[in-house]
Amino acid sequence: MTSIWSTADDTVTRPPLPPGQRHDVVVVGAGLTGLVTALLLAEAGRDVVVVEGRRIGVGTTGLSTGKVSLLQSTRAGRIAEHCSLDALRTYLDANRAGQRWLLDYCASHAVDVQHRAAITYAQTAAAGDDIRAEHEITRAAGLPTEYVHELDTPFPSFGGVRLPDQAQLDPMAVLLALAADLDARSIPIYESTRVQGVGWEPRGDHLVRTDQADLRAGTVILATGAPILDRGGFFARLTAQRSYLSAFRVGEPIPGEMFISADSPTRSLRTVPAEDGELLLVGGNGHEVGRAENTTELVEDLVDWTQRVLPTAEPIAHWSAQDYTPVGELPYAGPLLPGSDRILIATGYAKWGLTNGVAAALALAGHITGATPAWAPVFTTWRPPALHAITSTASANTAVLQYLTAGWLSGMRGDEPDDRPAEGCGRVRRQGLRPVATATVDGVTTSVSAVCPHLYGVVRWNSAEKSWDCPLHGSRFAADGSVLEGPATRSLMP
Ligand SMILES: Cc1cc2nc3c(=O)[nH]c(=O)nc-3n(C[C@H](O)[C@H](O)[C@H](O)COP(=O)(O)OP(=O)(O)OC[C@H]3O[C@@H](n4cnc5c(N)ncnc54)[C@H](O)[C@@H]3O)c2cc1C
Repeated sequence: MTSIWSTADDTVTRPPLPPGQRHDVVVVGAGLTGLVTALLLAEAGRDVVVVEGRRIGVGTTGLSTGKVSLLQSTRAGRIAEHCSLDALRTYLDANRAGQRWLLDYCASHAVDVQHRAAITYAQTAAAGDDIRAEHEITRAAGLPTEYVHELDTPFPSFGGVRLPDQAQLDPMAVLLALAADLDARSIPIYESTRVQGVGWEPRGDHLVRTDQADLRAGTVILATGAPILDRGGFFARLTAQRSYLSAFRVGEPIPGEMFISADSPTRSLRTVPAEDGELLLVGGNGHEVGRAENTTELVEDLVDWTQRVLPTAEPIAHWSAQDYTPVGELPYAGPLLPGSDRILIATGYAKWGLTNGVAAALALAGHITGATPAWAPVFTTWRPPALHAITSTASANTAVLQYLTAGWLSGMRGDEPDDRPAEGCGRVRRQGLRPVATATVDGVTTSVSAVCPHLYGVVRWNSAEKSWDCPLHGSRFAADGSVLEGPATRSLMP
């Protein structure tokens, strides 16, 4: 599954981390959060370096839908309900700052942006109340939204909330511009360097352990999506949500605005400028990572839906990505542990990271330089948990426990004939007492331990992406066991 954004020359790679380095700030992760944080710190004259486990853009940013919007489905209603109207206003201030920074950056670095209205719409009459509620709460929080009773859409719609003058872009183009900017300032970005742990050095530095070399750091910023260090317990305060995107060539008029449905299954649409007209991007069918029965069906369902509403739609690309939803609704940007300022994290953007990720970067850089934005406390990593957050954390962790148990029991079930899985298939079976994951991809059958090295969940086969996905906290691995993403820092054992 390959995105339409990945048009950059794939053969150009950056070197891995060489030994013997020390930097004041080590940013882990070359997604939007990491690169913007590094740039802000470089502009402030700090000694900073970026360390990326794979390649720039292979994380969520480079696979996103590319909407830069303050109207974010029905998030405003959820934040106001679970936190407060004041918290929502401050959240929007943060997102406004993130949006402004990103659009200014694009304007000054020749990154193409299309200004479009954002619309959250009801797919069914039953979601009409959610739309009206989102309209009221966004107005109360100061967004100039309007309620649209009837939308002119080729798909079923029952009204929507509209916010004019939002934006859409190619997220990979943004990352490449940021990387070029860092290059111009001689800020190194090391690729193919996975951070596996952070310890203390006698002189007060951190020792960052990677699969290439160790490096010393004054401050470490984990801009890795899910934080890769378990102290702080953020894995238990997030759920990993995966969803799917398909791009289509369409031979009939397509709506030019950016749409997202309020109700499930989510449908998110936007256009993309292309040489021979515009493409249509359709996203949706999200689920918790590793918990969908058949991911191939979810991709097919998105295509079926699109072809039902636009019969000329011809799919040209499919891909998917994941992001982390915080149980307390508000994202986190700040210290990993209370009272300690030298390991910072940013996560929990709930699929709205193009504004939240930049805002988090502004907050983290401000934390280091002393210029903290007024809205930054809304992203605090250590707030007293609201009652609903305690309940949500408990239910998220009950589900984790159920998947942990079910995984081990099914991994242990009966002896099966030792035949090779068919091409593109994978299965978990018992060898002695150990669950073993075996998959066949491109004619090669590989067996690896089925036990996720993060917190010992038993991985499940993702047929759409030919990967092993952990249903506990969203770690993912290639068919050969090598780590792809999530909180795990090590591969599945051979
Ligand atoms: C399907 C989908 C569509 C989306 N569409 C939108 C949208 O239209 N608008 C919007 O605002 N948001 C959208 N989002 C959300 C947004 O893309 C993310 O919130 C945002 O990109 C996260 O940025 P990041 O820098 O935190 O993470 P990432 O972009 O994932 O970057 C993290 C980087 O850290 C690296 N890394 C991880 N672990 C290690 C390690 N141990 N060592 C070294 N490096 C490591 C990864 O390889 C990765 O490159 C979408 C999300 C999804 C899933």
